[in-house]
Amino acid sequence: MRHLLPVTLLLTARLFPQQPEPATHQKLIPTLWVQTAPEWRGLCLQTYRAATTALSRALKDKKSTAAIEQTGNFRKLKPAIILDIDETVLDNSPGQARQVVTHTDFDPKSWDQWVKEQQAVAIPGAAEFCQYADRRGVKVFFVTNRDQSQKSATLANLNKAGFPASPETLLCRGDRPEWNTSEKTARRQEIAKTYRILLLIGDDLGDFLPGVRTSIEQRAILVAPYLENWGRKWFLLPNPGYGSWEEALYAPKRAAGPADRVRQKERWLQPKQP
Ligand SMILES: [Mg+2]
Repeated sequence: MRHLLPVTLLLTARLFPQQPEPATHQKLIPTLWVQTAPEWRGLCLQTYRAATTALSRALKDKKSTAAIEQTGNFRKLKPAIILDIDETVLDNSPGQARQVVTHTDFDPKSWDQWVKEQQAVAIPGAAEFCQYADRRGVKVFFVTNRDQSQKSATLANLNKAGFPASPETLLCRGDRPEWNTSEKTARRQEIAKTYRILLLIGDDLGDFLPGVRTSIEQRAILVAPYLENWGRKWFLLPNPGYGSWEEALYAPKRAAGPADRVRQKERWLQPKQP
């Protein structure tokens, strides 16, 4: 009997030769998390619920502003909030899932097509929160790096998903020549001229601060003076799929293709020696 074991192993190895590891798309795990995990949904609801409480507090506290761009006497200005769009109020995970199943990466052309399809749905809790702010007389602004050419599709998608948005409250990249940049600071400044900004809500450091497209170390230094704002004036949604945090992994250069991206990411891992 004893001699049968090696024969069986040999046969098994012949029948089931070891498969090479399949190349895993970099967006597989983050997209699955967003599309299947109640934990993701819970985080979104938690953020918008906390923002609802903070909104009431900020409405009463006329000395309070959430925007570092807001200076001077703003106590008597009408109240407003500023939200980002992608992965803050609209969920684009179906577009990312498309990249995974077609083994492609983000590219401006397919992104434009996705935007024009207007298929994005509301992030859990986001539409209810915006409707609540609107009912309380708070102007709801959307400041997005979607392009001016995508404005009407974006507006239609927002309205379809239940958001109170209009051409005046949707500020796209390139709406004005001086806004033709991913920096949102000039757009926040513009809103701050006529409104007191109660809260900022986003999924990326750039939704709160300028100059975030820099190194990992610099980003930490940049946000350090404002840590008190999280959960009080600044509210974050989880985005494990992309963002300026990911670009920082490759800084100061851009990655030279998918394999280089993986190599550069691994460089930042901090395993402990056993
Ligand atoms: Mg975003």
